[in-house]
Amino acid sequence: MLEQIVSREYGKSLRQCQDEEIYRALLQLVQEKAAARENRGGKKKLYYISAEFLIGKLLSNNLINLGIYDEVAEELERAGKNLSVYEDREPEPSLGNGGLGRLAACFLDSIATLGLPGDGVGLNYHYGLFRQKFKNCRQKEKPNPWMEEDSWLVRSDRKFMVSFGKFDVPAVMYDILVTGYDNGTNRLHLFDLDSVDESLVAKGIDFDKTQIEKNLTLFLYPDDSDEAGRLLRVYQQYFMVSCGAQLIFAEAKERGSNLHDLADYAAVQINDTHPSMVIPELIRLLLAEGILWEEAVQIVTDTCAYTNHTILAEALEKWPMAFLEEVAPAIVPVIRRLDEEITKKYNDPAVAIIDKENRVHMAHMDMHYGHSVNGVAYLHTEILKNSELNDFYKLYPDKFNNKTNGITFRRWLLHCNHELTDFLTATIGGEFKKDAAKLEKLLEYKEDDRVLNRLMEIKKANKHRLALYLKETQGIELNEDSIFDIQIKRLHEYKRQQLNALYAIHKYREIRKGKKPARPITLIFGAKAAPAYTIAKDIIHLILCLQELIQNDPQVSPYLRVVMVENYNVTKAEKLIPACDISEQISLASKEASGTGNMKFMLNGAVTLGTEDGANVEIHELVGDENIYVFGEDSDTVIARYERGDYHSRDYYEWNKDLKKAVNFIIGKKMLKIGSRKRLLNLYNELIAKDWFMTFPDFNAYVEAKERAYADYEDSRSWAQKMLVNIAKAGFFSSDRTIEQYNRDIWNL
Ligand SMILES: *Cc1c(COP(=O)(O)O)cnc(C)c1O
Repeated sequence: MLEQIVSREYGKSLRQCQDEEIYRALLQLVQEKAAARENRGGKKKLYYISAEFLIGKLLSNNLINLGIYDEVAEELERAGKNLSVYEDREPEPSLGNGGLGRLAACFLDSIATLGLPGDGVGLNYHYGLFRQKFKNCRQKEKPNPWMEEDSWLVRSDRKFMVSFGKFDVPAVMYDILVTGYDNGTNRLHLFDLDSVDESLVAKGIDFDKTQIEKNLTLFLYPDDSDEAGRLLRVYQQYFMVSCGAQLIFAEAKERGSNLHDLADYAAVQINDTHPSMVIPELIRLLLAEGILWEEAVQIVTDTCAYTNHTILAEALEKWPMAFLEEVAPAIVPVIRRLDEEITKKYNDPAVAIIDKENRVHMAHMDMHYGHSVNGVAYLHTEILKNSELNDFYKLYPDKFNNKTNGITFRRWLLHCNHELTDFLTATIGGEFKKDAAKLEKLLEYKEDDRVLNRLMEIKKANKHRLALYLKETQGIELNEDSIFDIQIKRLHEYKRQQLNALYAIHKYREIRKGKKPARPITLIFGAKAAPAYTIAKDIIHLILCLQELIQNDPQVSPYLRVVMVENYNVTKAEKLIPACDISEQISLASKEASGTGNMKFMLNGAVTLGTEDGANVEIHELVGDENIYVFGEDSDTVIARYERGDYHSRDYYEWNKDLKKAVNFIIGKKMLKIGSRKRLLNLYNELIAKDWFMTFPDFNAYVEAKERAYADYEDSRSWAQKMLVNIAKAGFFSSDRTIEQYNRDIWNL
């Protein structure tokens, strides 16, 4: 296949080609094959609008989904080339912060795999999210350029004008083909401006925030739960939905819609509140087409559905009306009228769209004027219904529904863990690749020593591969016989990396006192912190200081290591997850909407150590008490304590001797020799004076659960059985299942 392309393009054989020529030929091969299977769909089409698509590298996944991975790998091998060279060479676009953006990418894969007509709509951030570097035990942010002359990104012919209050800009649409596994091809549409100027970026990731035409799509806003630098963010959002709405109109008309029947031609899924302005924008466009107000509102309500991703109050967007008046004055009268109707109907400030401070509550608009509101895990949806969004649930009980998140098994098993995939295929057949529930067949082998031993061998081989990779990339040596205990996810206080770090200190102190663990422990972290999130950066500082302290302590380092992987992203996740023994999912109960990292780990045979939060609850239910380590206070207890407002971390600190010593260690002599007094003191004070995410009440239970897991690991047969059950039960978390449910209950494609 490749031979044909290089002979046609360069008049050479594969063996004679330069690596760059082969890379280009690979792109071309995939684009040709993918375009040939494009999904032309039926009447109705889904538009999944999202400010983030954390797609990861695409080469191998596309080859797998097109069913030509092995063939291409062999063809390259015959020419003395190695596919991994081109896999490594591909840059990773970082068009997302974390879970929310990765979910959108998994969904696109499943939508295409199920053969559904549905495209992604988003923005083409030139530098994406920042690239993380470590220096002096701190995070530094750098731009992450990923666009190249030859890439998956293809400029389309579609052009739209977007009118802001002060000026108009011409938008261009780029496309990335989305291949389904053994099925059709869809598209991810990314909008951009030709006038964006990359030279605007000065030091690090600083840039002139005022020149909107030049900076609009330079960066992805580096935070999924905070509102700083907000005006530019509103510009980005309106730009995205204005382009999206124009695309929806153009395509619906091309397929024969008269716009009165738009809801028969388009389903719009609003991924979190970032694209919420699509609702007033679509209404505005329908009005401009001569459709009357009431009908326009009904059409848009029938078309749009909203997914909630968080209960953190600070992450529910509320934009000052003054911002909208500057950015998108055309939709302001629409928003005002929607708000008036709600006020007239319900006369309740709690459900108003515009509040007394003249801020627009984006989620409120979504819930009143969309036909569906979904949470992303069972517990999350229950909390939305019963507490966080209870006022809306009472108004619209039928709109609320749950869609437990999922992950694509093509990337998170077939691509990232070839050895396990091959073994599963040989043992239970290959049906699980398209029908994930078939993984349950593995349960028949729970007493089969050959299978159990193989699972352990595969884990060992993956740990070895990770060790080589970290040696090569960060110069870090791992003890491959140690337990790999991994926590990788965005750095946020609610995710509680600080609790894991407190355990590391506790263990360090025990080992110093002579209490050695049965087996060495490697605590691996990976996390980016939003640049303006001081406490998150202080936690990274703590972890990096601990890494250095322990590494240089010969009394402790044979038994305990702390390792922080630089620039955690999808590519790193693909290397870390297959090598993991214990998956850390320790968010404060009630705070993690779902988590999807937890699912990736389970699928790859790691055992979860977690709180009863997000989808951990469903993992627990599926695998049973024997095959998970659950600890800590439950969400009811936590929610009740927040309501009472009577949590005082200092009380726990005073009562709990081990905890007190671990916390004091943060500002002890050893740490101050390595780290910044100011930063460490700041974190220490934060913990004893506030600890908003309640790590102290869970400290003892966490230490106990972790020790129990480590002890159980020593019985390798029963550990392998836990691995087996986790893999076998992971089928529920395929995003194919999630997308089938969205389609059945919300989209009806
Ligand atoms: C899956 C994934 C996440 C989400 O992880 P959680 O543990 O669910 O927060 C974040 N970042 C990357 C790169 C991922 O692949």
